[in-house]
Amino acid sequence: MSIRKIVLIQPRRDGRYLGKGTSQPYTLMRLASLVPQEIPVEIWDEDLMDLPISTLGPQDLVGISAKTLLIDRAQAIARRIQKQGATVVMGGAHTTLVPDEVAQWADVIAVGEGYYTWPQIIQDFERGTLQPAYVDESWAPLDSGVALLQDRVLRQIDEHKNYWTPYLEITRGCPRNCTFCTAIRVSGRKMRLRPVEEVVEEIQRRKIQRFFLTDDNFGLNFKLYPEYMEQLFRALAKLPLHGWTCQAEQMVADFPDLLALAAEAHMDKFFIGFESVNPANRKELGGKAKGNIERYRQVIETVHSYNIGVVGLFVFGFDHDTFDTFQQTWDFVRSSELDSVSATILTPYPGTEQRQELLAAGRIIPHDTWERYDTTHVTYLPAKLSVDELASAHDWLCRKVYNPSTMMQRGMRQLSRHPLPKWPKRAISAFSTDIGYRREFDYRHS
Ligand code: SF4
Repeated sequence: MSIRKIVLIQPRRDGRYLGKGTSQPYTLMRLASLVPQEIPVEIWDEDLMDLPISTLGPQDLVGISAKTLLIDRAQAIARRIQKQGATVVMGGAHTTLVPDEVAQWADVIAVGEGYYTWPQIIQDFERGTLQPAYVDESWAPLDSGVALLQDRVLRQIDEHKNYWTPYLEITRGCPRNCTFCTAIRVSGRKMRLRPVEEVVEEIQRRKIQRFFLTDDNFGLNFKLYPEYMEQLFRALAKLPLHGWTCQAEQMVADFPDLLALAAEAHMDKFFIGFESVNPANRKELGGKAKGNIERYRQVIETVHSYNIGVVGLFVFGFDHDTFDTFQQTWDFVRSSELDSVSATILTPYPGTEQRQELLAAGRIIPHDTWERYDTTHVTYLPAKLSVDELASAHDWLCRKVYNPSTMMQRGMRQLSRHPLPKWPKRAISAFSTDIGYRREFDYRHS
């Protein structure tokens, strides 16, 4: 069958904020760029539009990408599309983690990243030989120009007009295997790197001056690939960037030379997974030194000394957590000069070791929908707190951390680390992370 068009859908999440979307569909932009030029392709972001599903028909191929939290919404959208006679391909993290579940209602499932299978699916649709399941058997090397963003995709997305923060990917994967994290299954154990020239070209072509790196653990490359990082930072230093942010581990503080280069490369903030102030939780947190508050302080101080900010990521609800863990975290946040804080509730995602253990112990709360797997709801039976106690302790901490005056204080403190002439460039970033987290907390509790 000849294809009329391909549509890629990002289901609704947080809506617009002050007229713009907050989550750019970067993965879909790359998949759309794999569509041959002669086939029309559109990206529909439900945060920005009412989906024109009634315009679809049997000659249309529709891909929906969803993580666990959005899978129920994706299923509702898929049902409406199927009624139009169009074909629905489901991909994304949830499909990769629990393919059998999604296969029950999707026309086709695409397990894995899709770099190999997506072009095959398009071809098979045209030939009328579509299979019910496609599995990316190997991780695509990122050093060979896979899924370079097409200009027609960039034009259609119009990111400067439609999104607050452009997303970018430079590396992918994480060899750690923290028991609660899906990265190893979704992005692979081996770290893969994009060529520096390709990254620079993409930034220039997109004319972006700020970006958030979607890389699972960009900071680990300080240790694994220091030469690549040096080359990357030296190249980014030459660009007229306002700032960029990435996820990292504490050990970035052990690489002073690279930190100095990162600062020259306009790096604005590290999002560092401290995870817990409770040292008893260390076993559940992979091979990293956890729960050592003095080490945390030293890391924050060191990174700040290079004029780079630190956002602290904390997870609550590990088996050793009690009310004291929340109080100790708040005490630490108040005294640590962190630039922003993410406080999430442990969420036993499918495909994680954590979920297996909790299932075996009968501690997963039965659920009708996956919508509660949003890191602000309790979805299992905690060990030392009741479900209500964990939820209310988390609420208590979030109200403290995302109190407007506390946020203002943190934002001004960030700005004060920079000379006055740089404030206009840094102003958005000084407040946006806290505002984003607060908004997410409000949204989940509305
Ligand atoms: S939590 Fe971070 S360090 Fe641990 S596996 Fe996930 S990405 Fe890697």
